Amino acid sequence: VSKAVLKSVLLAVGLVAVALPQGNSLRIKPSARSIQPGELVMLTITGPDRIDALRARAFDEDLIPQRVDDRTWQVIVGIDLDVAPGRHGVALRWTQAGHTSTQTATHTLDVTPKAFRTRTLTVPETFVNPPESAQAQIAADAKLIAQAWNSSTDERYWKTPFIAPVPHEANSAFGSRSVYNGQARSPHGGADFASPTGTPIKAPNTGRVVIARDMYYTGGTVAIDHGLGLVSLVAHLSKIDVKEGQMVQVGEIVGEVGATGRVTGPHLHWAVKARNARVDPLSLLAVLGAAGLQTGR
Ligand SMILES: [Zn+2]
Repeated sequence: VSKAVLKSVLLAVGLVAVALPQGNSLRIKPSARSIQPGELVMLTITGPDRIDALRARAFDEDLIPQRVDDRTWQVIVGIDLDVAPGRHGVALRWTQAGHTSTQTATHTLDVTPKAFRTRTLTVPETFVNPPESAQAQIAADAKLIAQAWNSSTDERYWKTPFIAPVPHEANSAFGSRSVYNGQARSPHGGADFASPTGTPIKAPNTGRVVIARDMYYTGGTVAIDHGLGLVSLVAHLSKIDVKEGQMVQVGEIVGEVGATGRVTGPHLHWAVKARNARVDPLSLLAVLGAAGLQTGR
């Protein structure tokens, strides 16, 4: 897919921001479902004149701004699940055509509180208090998953809207406080899709496979670096059809739904990080999926 197509896709999101900025200031328009913990936000930034360079930083992470056209840039910001409600700044440093000095601006994200449910689950005891013999694998898995989340390059692998990996309904369990067999564990960092075992799983978008193997808690696991700071992970697969290091195209089958790892039954778990922030995959689809791009929200 050509650069021009991506440009039109990205521009569609920013269409509401047609009014021209006055003077030397930037016009910044957020696209998001809401400004809350666990939400993905895309900022469309329009300059008074050509913007030659733009840097963005939020939540102690350098973000990856992309040029859309001479005056317009976009940057994806993830608001992590555990971000405290309140005002958080996205710091922008930009260089305008004909100016030698760098200018700065701050876009404020007014993060409103979100109440996450608590869910109680019953799973085999080995997934709540794993045996000593499993500790080495659990540690190795954690290291690989951390590397995968950090793998995202400035490379822009995806050129078209994100898609849901399976056609089944997703529950809104993202962010739920999880209690397994009566013991609290980390909050649920993904969306679960009620898909039967054997359902083919599509790559949510183009990218490089950074994990394709069996793991203790997540069972059959595939992680894809989409670039621009976005990484997807699908878990509990019964079958894996890709290899680590290979490229996959949007919609390409990466494996099949299963019930491997710490589960109560067959389903697809899809988790997304945006520059290390845990975001609801459904918020990614709302902003960077076809529907979100059409409505420009
Ligand atoms: Zn899940």
